[in-house]
Formats: sequence, structure tokens, C-alpha cells
Amino acid sequence: MIKTVVSSALPIDEKLRIKKNILTNGKGKKRICIVTGTHGDELEGQYVCFELINKIKANMEKLDGTVEIYPSLNPLGMDSITRGVPNFDLDMNRIFPGNPEGSMAEAAAFAICEDLKGADMVIDIHSSNIFLREIPQIRINVDEAEHLVPYARMLNIDFIWVHESATVLQATLAHSLNRCSTPTIVVEMGVGMRINHSMGNELVRGILNLMKNMGIWEGEISPAVISEPVISNGDNVIFLNADKSGIFLTETRNNTIVEKDELIGKIVDPLSGDILQTIKASERGLLFTIRAYPVVYEGSLIARIYKL
Ligand SMILES: [Zn+2]
Repeated sequence: MIKTVVSSALPIDEKLRIKKNILTNGKGKKRICIVTGTHGDELEGQYVCFELINKIKANMEKLDGTVEIYPSLNPLGMDSITRGVPNFDLDMNRIFPGNPEGSMAEAAAFAICEDLKGADMVIDIHSSNIFLREIPQIRINVDEAEHLVPYARMLNIDFIWVHESATVLQATLAHSLNRCSTPTIVVEMGVGMRINHSMGNELVRGILNLMKNMGIWEGEISPAVISEPVISNGDNVIFLNADKSGIFLTETRNNTIVEKDELIGKIVDPLSGDILQTIKASERGLLFTIRAYPVVYEGSLIARIYKL
């Protein structure tokens, strides 16, 4: 059943509508919500929504509870290939829990939050931006790690980044929901403006596995083996940044273990033909982020390694 969560007027007799698909069956009372599209340039979640709906519909009798799927929390952004909410010049993931008396975007954020509150689990799927390529990962604030990591491990992802609470952005959807006792996990994977099928398939399998563990899904998980993620502990994430402006060239793929001093790539000057900087792994570890967009400036993030 398709339901409209938000409907607000646009200038010329049009409407902004944010919709969800509700799949429900059986006597189970548990509810899991899959949300995505807060950032209009992040599309990996679209494939996950599509695949998940079809996997559940093909075996509806195996569902015991409710799955709600929200593919596009920021439809204006998606329509205009814009990360934020166009015309409001803001990042939608910085205005939660919203305000019913505020601007259109704030009122939409409020309605979304109210709609999600009380769910037994919310999975908020993000891609990276167009600049960085990320392996499938979950980012959890250290204050919520004890509660959320056991669920995150069920999601068949490669890496769980538990980060310090000092770096937590207060106005994200996940933070707002977690603060009101609605467990919310943020998944980040791939690269902006693109869809990677294999990553999406792995996450769909993970979501079904989580649902099975929560008692919402009785179907088989195939293949049954779920990835055991690397879980970061402490401050072991290393950032490699550009020292020079230029064009970043690499043939290194992420989701590999790099050795200390292993070549990650180089920054070159296509005018002079010079190599401006050779970028090497400063430590042995899991290369989980790598630059996807080749134009870099001094200070641009090139890679992140989780030191092993
Ligand atoms: Zn995002």
C-alpha cells in the first residue's frame, strides 16, 4: 500500500509528495523502515528499495510484521540532481527533527520524523558524494554503539565505523531518531550519482537477515553466509589528503588490505607532465574510502584507511 507521508504545495499548483510503500503480513507487530534519498545525488538506496520490495512481494507469506520503504525523502533534490533541497540551499540531513511551523523543508523533516518514530528499526541508506567511493559501511556514534552494533553486524556490510560523539552531527535524521528511542542505523556505500548492483544485493540480503533475526522474516537467506564486518575501535582511522592541487590518478580499488608504504595513487600536473605527489599508505590497513573524482586541491581527501 502506497501512502503519502508529506504533501505540501509548490508554487504553480503542484505538490511536493513524499511517499512510502507499506508491506505488511501476519500477526507480527514489529516494524522496520528503510529510508533513503535524503541527499538527492545519492542513488544507491533506490536499487535496494526496488530489490527489497520485490524479494518480499515474491514471498509475502514469509513476512510477519511490517516493512515500510521510503525511497525519496528529498524528491526535489533527486529531480534536479541536487544534494540538498533546491531553493532552500540546505542539507536536508541537518534540519531534523524539523519544525511543523518552519519552512517547507523543516515541516517535511518534522513529518518524516513523526512518521518514523516508534519503529523497531530504521535503516537510513546513503551513498557517498560524487568525490569519494566507499565500501559498504555503517557509521555509529560511540554512545549508541553498545545498542546498535549487534544489529549492524547482521546487515552483511564490510565495515562498522564507531566514531567519537564529538563528531556527531546533532541534526541528522539518525541522531534525532536515536535520541527518541527509535533505533536507526546509517549505511553508507558506493559513490554519488551511481548504482552498484552487487553492493545493493549484499545489503538487501543483510536487511532480510536483520529482519529474520528480529522475527519479521521467515524466508531463507541465500546464500546464508553473512559477512563479518571489520569493526573500528578507538581512533584508528587514517586520513590521506592531497598536499598539491592536480589530477589524482589511481588504479587502486577500495575494500582491500593495503600494506604500509603501498602505492595508492599519484597527483600529476597534465600541463608540465610532472608527478606532484606520490600517495602511499602510511599504515597497513583496510582501504575503505578512495577518491573517485580525479580533480583535487591541496587538502582534498584522497583515501581513508582503517589501521589493522
Ligand atoms: Zn547522504
